[in-house]
Amino acid sequence: KFITLEGGEGVGKSTNLDFIRRSLERQGMSVVVTREPGGTELAEKIRQLLLDNNTESITPTAELLMMFAARSQHIAHVIEPALQQGRWVLCDRFTDATFAYQGGGRGMDLQVIEWLERCVQGDLRPDLTLLLDAPVEIGLRRVRQRGDFDRFEQEKSDFFERVRQSYLRQAQLYPSRFEVIDASQALDQVQQAVAVALSALI
Ligand code: C5P
Repeated sequence: KFITLEGGEGVGKSTNLDFIRRSLERQGMSVVVTREPGGTELAEKIRQLLLDNNTESITPTAELLMMFAARSQHIAHVIEPALQQGRWVLCDRFTDATFAYQGGGRGMDLQVIEWLERCVQGDLRPDLTLLLDAPVEIGLRRVRQRGDFDRFEQEKSDFFERVRQSYLRQAQLYPSRFEVIDASQALDQVQQAVAVALSALI
């Protein structure tokens, strides 16, 4: 099975990723934990290019294509092989993040993104997507406390508001694979909701 974890900045993705991995392993699943952009040698290099604060600005089109270039490597070398071995793949962000950040955030044409999705993924879609959702201000406060910002985290809050709304729109479009979790709750409540969503899949 293929599970993706999505959400805006500071919603607790890392903490929950670890929680999900441990719950699956406890139930005897063999789990591959990976992330996007990244997950392979080349895709991690693309990630670095995207996250660094470069002097040359990256165009939204280049950003979109780099995301899908990294994804193609990731699918071919990590995701597909693991799924074929019957393992579980748990991925920190996937194509819904592209709809949210490059689509909603940067305003790239959603039909172009859909076309790239088909081109790069064929029929591959997550079996379950957990969307950690919280008001933008709550997440940004947590990120700012952390201190150092990557290229994306320097965006203004209206960018992140568009990201959030685009994620929620994806969830409305694909309700059968999405589980929206209120990430502004206390962590144990978030994890309880995550566990319920996981047990439905298992
Ligand atoms: O998930 P993580 O926070 O590590 O992602 C790194 C950065 O890349 C984040 O700031 C995220 O907003 C950004 N990103 C993006 N578009 C994607 C995936 C990630 O802008 N499709």
